[in-house]
Amino acid sequence: MIFKELGLIAPLLKAVEKQNYTEPTAIQEKAIPPILEGRDILASAQTGTGKTAGFTLPLLQILSQSEPLRRRPIRALVLTPTRELAAQVHESIRTYGEFLNLRSTVIFGGVNAKPQIATLQNGVDILVATPGRLLDLHSQRIFSLAKVEFFVLDEADRMLDMGFARDVNKILKLLPAKRQNLLFSATFSKEIKNLANVFLQHPVTVEATPENTTVEKIVQKAYHVAKIDKTELLIKLINDDNWKQILIFTRTKSGANRLGKKLNKRGVVAAEIHGDKSQNARVKALDNFKKGAVRALVATDVAARGLDIPLLPYVVNFELPNIPEDYVHRIGRTGRAGANGVAVSLVDHSEMAYLRDIEKLLKHNIPLKVLEGFEPGEATEEDLKPAKKSFQRNQKAPANKNNNRRQPARSKVSSRDSK
Ligand code: AMP
Repeated sequence: MIFKELGLIAPLLKAVEKQNYTEPTAIQEKAIPPILEGRDILASAQTGTGKTAGFTLPLLQILSQSEPLRRRPIRALVLTPTRELAAQVHESIRTYGEFLNLRSTVIFGGVNAKPQIATLQNGVDILVATPGRLLDLHSQRIFSLAKVEFFVLDEADRMLDMGFARDVNKILKLLPAKRQNLLFSATFSKEIKNLANVFLQHPVTVEATPENTTVEKIVQKAYHVAKIDKTELLIKLINDDNWKQILIFTRTKSGANRLGKKLNKRGVVAAEIHGDKSQNARVKALDNFKKGAVRALVATDVAARGLDIPLLPYVVNFELPNIPEDYVHRIGRTGRAGANGVAVSLVDHSEMAYLRDIEKLLKHNIPLKVLEGFEPGEATEEDLKPAKKSFQRNQKAPANKNNNRRQPARSKVSSRDSK
């Protein structure tokens, strides 16, 4: 299929051509036609599937087909959970909307609100926002949402994981009843389905990849290794295979800092990206990573959400996530839009229960290898502590039987240090 067959107008086809996209991705093929017909959409799509263009292209088309209203009230609202994702969605809107007469802007917290206010007061057709800053500026009557015709909730699962459910509900109440709604989510818990029922009207369901399965082109490897040997093993893997651009995940912010420091000491230029870093520091780290000035980007799950790094070759799980769905998100950072990728997990004794949870979710095993010189040795009592915890957790709420299992598991960690 080619883009023209999706019914897109010439200025959008020109913009797509400029990006050298030869054909639509699966989600674009499935989502664009019903969105253009004005339908609500419930889309299951991970980052890396081309979902942003999947909603941005038809959104731009629909808005461009009527004359801009006087004073340009906001006609489309895109809500995202993180600042990075907000910035990237806005960038996509600018890229694909280059040949159209539409104005857009992005607002998020952690930066000075004044320039955002000034842009909003000039009038914009499309607003991309994170919930906190949106509600903050709305309560100051900087803008109105009364003319919104088009509402996109992007990465809805992450939005709920980050505790934005109440904010999302508040924002829904600020929108006019008659509007088109799109909901994108990588996973579909009971909570997401409930949320979808609240605001989608007879939605068309579209899926890019089957629920909770990883992109087939990603090669998944796992090494069983002692906790204290993980850094050495990582450095060996990086050097032996001359890995150039590596995204590394840790479970905690402090873990990301520690690993970043160690890698830099050992000559692997690394930067960290997590919730304690300022917006400027995150943007700088990401830019340097994209340029190749930083070889390893060490990230926590929340901070990495929505990072747009095309053709990322390697993702490393320095620590396995305690939420199996996060593994799917993490490795979705590689093998993007059709390219091959490698996801490597370093698994110590204490994480074996996490690995089993992940395999259960994926419905396949991840081969666990031991590398010579990095044998994990016997598990100590200390090693097994978190594994026992995970086991108890599963006993209380067996996997796949109770979706609420995710919430307590997460809050246990996030109250300490997970964002
Ligand atoms: P997303 O899933 O929206 O984060 O997009 C992932 C990456 O795929 C981005 O770098 C896009 O620029 C790229 N992309 C989007 N659509 C296409 C397409 N049709 N062909 C090739 N790459 C694409």
